[in-house]
Amino acid sequence: MARLDGKVAIVTGAAQGIGASYAKALAKEGASVCVADIDDPAGTVAAINAAGGQALGVNVDVSSAASVRQMIDKTVAAFGGVHILVNNAAVFGKLALKPFEEISSDEWDKVMAVNIRGVFECCKAATPQMRAQKYGKIVNIASGTVYKGTPMLLHYVTSKGAIVALTRAMARELGGAGIGVNCIAPGLTMSDNVKSNTDWAEPLINGINASRAIKRDQQPDDLLGTLIFLSSPDSDFLTGQTIVVDGGSVMH
Ligand code: NAD
Repeated sequence: MARLDGKVAIVTGAAQGIGASYAKALAKEGASVCVADIDDPAGTVAAINAAGGQALGVNVDVSSAASVRQMIDKTVAAFGGVHILVNNAAVFGKLALKPFEEISSDEWDKVMAVNIRGVFECCKAATPQMRAQKYGKIVNIASGTVYKGTPMLLHYVTSKGAIVALTRAMARELGGAGIGVNCIAPGLTMSDNVKSNTDWAEPLINGINASRAIKRDQQPDDLLGTLIFLSSPDSDFLTGQTIVVDGGSVMH
């Protein structure tokens, strides 16, 4: 029996990148997975089905409350519940590095709408179902940049810092309802968009390994053990925490 048999998971931003890895890992552990993204999630759904798992693809804009509501309703209709919510969708991998004085108000608002309000909307929409089940695992995806104060991505770093704060406050509100709320803060990870973002090669990618205790590139697979732990009953007495998974670059 797999660890997540009978559980239903939603992973936002799972059409590609790290989110696709999360969705596949949860399915491999036995969860039925809603693969949700603003882009076409068909590739991830097909990969899960081909591996013998259960997946549902849903188009969602996490910054829209109505769209998020539909995502939850479709998941419950297909699989009968929502036990695990992984808030992974973000404006990230295609961002340009720039001094904060050059970030426009529109760019700021877009990043905040997806990266932090999107997390709020998804948690708010999933919580009634989790409360009814008296069980839920919310895993929010922050970033090691919060602890490093990484420059040239001020809107992004600020949005991810807010996720750490949201996680703590929400954990206190939901602790009595059997719902755990935790965070993963990944270090720079070789996802598809990161690898192809040439703007980042010199300032971000080169040299980052030197800051790590474990001196190698970080891959999406490096995040999966922590994701499954936070999604499973093994973490039932853990809430409000942020686990930095980055090869020992940040220690806190
Ligand atoms: P990515 O930018 O490649 O993927 C983000 C996904 O979110 C995409 O599939 C995109 O279509 C989706 N998305 C964007 N806006 C959306 C919206 N409004 N509604 C629904 N889906 C939307 O990012 P990635 O490298 O795969 O990283 C995944 C997560 O991990 C992000 O939250 C990112 O901030 C975080 N993270 C990544 C790294 C890294 O180095 N790759 C490091 C720290 C944290």
